[in-house]
Amino acid sequence: MQQITHDVLILGTGLAGLRAAVEICIRTRGSADIAIVSKVQVMRSHSVCAEGGTAAVMRPEEGDSLELHAWDTVKGSDFLADQDTVERFVRTSPDEIRLLEHRGVPWSRREDGRIMQRPFGGHSFPRACMAADKTGFFEMQALYDTLLKYNNFKRYDECFVTSLLLDDGRFAGLTLLDAPTGAFYVLRGKALLIASGGLGNLYGFTTYSQTVTGDGQAIAYRAGLPLEDPEFLQFHPTGLVPSGILMTEGCRGEGGYLRNNQGERFMEKYAPKMMELGPRDIVSRSEMTEILEGRGFPGPDGLDYIQLDMTHLGAEKINKRLPLIREVCMKFLGIDPITEPIPIRPVAHYSMGGIEADIDGRTKVENVWAAGEVACHSMHGANRLGCNSTAECLVWGGITGGEIAKYLGESPKLSGLPEDKAREEEKRVFDGLLKQSGTENPAHIRRELRTLMDKHAGVYRTGDSMKEGLAKIAELKQRFREITIQDKSRVYNTNLIQALETENMLDLAEVLLFAGLAREESRGAHSRRDFPKRDDVQFLAHSMVYYTGGSPKVGYKPVTITTWKPVERKY
Ligand SMILES: Cc1cc2nc3c(=O)[nH]c(=O)nc-3n(C[C@H](O)[C@H](O)[C@H](O)COP(=O)(O)OP(=O)(O)OC[C@H]3O[C@@H](n4cnc5c(N)ncnc54)[C@H](O)[C@@H]3O)c2cc1C
Repeated sequence: MQQITHDVLILGTGLAGLRAAVEICIRTRGSADIAIVSKVQVMRSHSVCAEGGTAAVMRPEEGDSLELHAWDTVKGSDFLADQDTVERFVRTSPDEIRLLEHRGVPWSRREDGRIMQRPFGGHSFPRACMAADKTGFFEMQALYDTLLKYNNFKRYDECFVTSLLLDDGRFAGLTLLDAPTGAFYVLRGKALLIASGGLGNLYGFTTYSQTVTGDGQAIAYRAGLPLEDPEFLQFHPTGLVPSGILMTEGCRGEGGYLRNNQGERFMEKYAPKMMELGPRDIVSRSEMTEILEGRGFPGPDGLDYIQLDMTHLGAEKINKRLPLIREVCMKFLGIDPITEPIPIRPVAHYSMGGIEADIDGRTKVENVWAAGEVACHSMHGANRLGCNSTAECLVWGGITGGEIAKYLGESPKLSGLPEDKAREEEKRVFDGLLKQSGTENPAHIRRELRTLMDKHAGVYRTGDSMKEGLAKIAELKQRFREITIQDKSRVYNTNLIQALETENMLDLAEVLLFAGLAREESRGAHSRRDFPKRDDVQFLAHSMVYYTGGSPKVGYKPVTITTWKPVERKY
């Protein structure tokens, strides 16, 4: 099997991966040989979809402070965030905004020329640095432009990574299916950064691009790296019905209201101080309560909804600050938000958990780092605040890039390659999955999985329902063994890639529900009807899930608390 060797492999070219690549180039003055790998073209990574903004304290003289940002984040996390991580995050994110400023992001500006920042949920100060409602797109552009100044990287676009190979406990290589040619080979490197993004497509109703299927989490998990806090899956309060397209929190940041079918701004009842700008877990639960108690609007396919009303904001504000939102509403629903309310409901949006990584982004394997949504450092705990994620990608992209550059400076050796394992993986994909002919269609399994996650691992959960979900996942896993992949060719075989993704999704769905069932409390995004209270005595701890080959094993590790003792959250 062909082997290609680089100094460092970066799996994923979203904000985290590109930011890390830039940092490695800066630190090594362009001397490190970098591979950047993406299953889609570089600029099609989900990060380009980020809309509302990136959090940073930019104006202490106007009343914001690092302490306030840290406190908002810790309180938002329902006290599950590691506080040393949060403190490092808030200290570093302003530098990242300035770096992007120098690299050409066209930030929206105030009259006085300074970067515009809008209010966001759970933040007690306007903190979301914004480029209209296309922030991620411009940030990605600026980072990739910067990278182009260096010629020491090779792009592996449309290359699907299928497994992570370790040798004697160290990273050895990635096996990779090159979609355009159908070639299968091994990429080797002295260091690996996993920056492969989230897993939103575990759910049917999601804001995520179809490609966001948690491959990085799944291959790391199967290679023996633990997953931390996977049960904490964020539901964003405003997904467009019925597509799930995100209506950025910026809509409420700019002054939008949420109304039930009585025309009431119901957030008065649930978060009287912050109203629509409460944290996402609380706003999503409030919406679901309104819907379940009959105060929603009837929607298609059971997708009953709430209204996001921006009709009082005026055309100028909407056109200037939310042009994408208006365009999407008009194109997808024929609704103009300047004059009509938008139908929305909670939508699967973000994974707080991920591959366990320390404050420097290092995983349990000495030469593997993780950054961005795939990682759990843990700075979001049980509930992430809006605009903290792009900021996290930039901060830990920078940190892990720096750490990897330092590591390369120590002249590490390339690990040996377990060739038998690489060949086994090739056989599994081509002689197994691709050749086998059974009675099951993998696309059906994927659809059923996503529907069951909507139902059994939603905004509100119960033990019984999660158990039922697990039993159905076990059935789907069984059926997956009997699949047939229609397209038998090797070149650009999207059927095969989707089957590999579905296999990953099945493992991650099981992990999420296993950890969810074991956590007998309600905290942040994990809200159980049968255990409605937070239980700090038993569960002020991170869940750690380990691969065993059979049922996942769940353990716990303590939360790092430096400053803030857990108290009741009130908004
Ligand atoms: C619609 C939307 C709007 C958002 N808006 C905001 C916002 O305004 N502010 C904010 O802070 N956050 C926002 N978020 C969240 C934030 O954008 C994401 O968490 C963040 O961009 C993730 O970046 P990433 O670098 O970790 O991964 P991604 O940008 O998702 O990139 C993942 C990369 O990994 C690659 N990859 C994955 N699997 C494989 C594989 N098997 N083989 C090869 N390559 C692979 C992909 O091709 C891709 O290049 C938003 C999210 C969505 C979905």
